[in-house]
Amino acid sequence: MPIPQYIKSLILDMDGVLWKGDAPIGDLPRIFGRIRERGLKTAFATNNGTRTPGQYVERLAGLGVTVEPWQVVTSALAVAELVDGALTPPPSPLRGAPPIFVENGGRWRGVFAIGEAGVKESLHAKGIEPLPVERAAEAQAVVMGIDRQINFEKMATATLLVRRGLPFFATNPDKTFPTSRGEIPGAGAWVSVVVTATGMEPIYAGKPAPYLLELARQRLGTAKEETLVVGDRLETDIAGGQAAGMPVALVLSGVAKREEGEAWEPKIDVVVKDLASLLA
Ligand SMILES: [Mg+2]
Repeated sequence: MPIPQYIKSLILDMDGVLWKGDAPIGDLPRIFGRIRERGLKTAFATNNGTRTPGQYVERLAGLGVTVEPWQVVTSALAVAELVDGALTPPPSPLRGAPPIFVENGGRWRGVFAIGEAGVKESLHAKGIEPLPVERAAEAQAVVMGIDRQINFEKMATATLLVRRGLPFFATNPDKTFPTSRGEIPGAGAWVSVVVTATGMEPIYAGKPAPYLLELARQRLGTAKEETLVVGDRLETDIAGGQAAGMPVALVLSGVAKREEGEAWEPKIDVVVKDLASLLA
């Protein structure tokens, strides 16, 4: 099942689509050669907010694929766009989203941030200061991502600020994070502590929310119906692409099995073995 003729750009998930652990999936330089021949634009979208776009550019270069930093979007970039008000949340506040967000368009200059370089750099790039625990009183919103330096004081501070009514954002709801040791707690697992302690749900930037994919599409400049979201996970990539109103392709080189893909509702536009088969 090849790519439909009307598709002009691809938004690619990376883990399970381009690589599995350290191993590339297929002959990536050749696959990207085919993509270029067909005149398709590409963006890379990942829920992993710990790395910066530059780090992904380097990783791709190491696998023989040349891309520019603007082509890489992470949940950390998308959460900064949301906080900055550049990506508009739904007109009616999501469950638990404080109405203040809608009132001021989300333009805050200092936020209490739990996260690593990815989150902190993307906030700085938008002119928003990620504040440490000692300056949490100045925060206008709370942003949470995965943080391998997380501790009780950071979790307590986030909880107190959200309970006080500050708007609450998070990079992604992923329960686990893949490492060479196995699955360790992901951003969603840490966020769940604050959700339990406050009764408030954050606005998530990453998949399956539409914001990360919408940011990628805006950068590509193609219409929704011309932009194909390619991923290996049903509950994130496929659900996210469908929530964003774009056609979706499931590759079976990662997490999801063919039977699960075929049973998924709404129906998936394209189901293929891997990225190479999508371009065959
Ligand atoms: Mg994946």
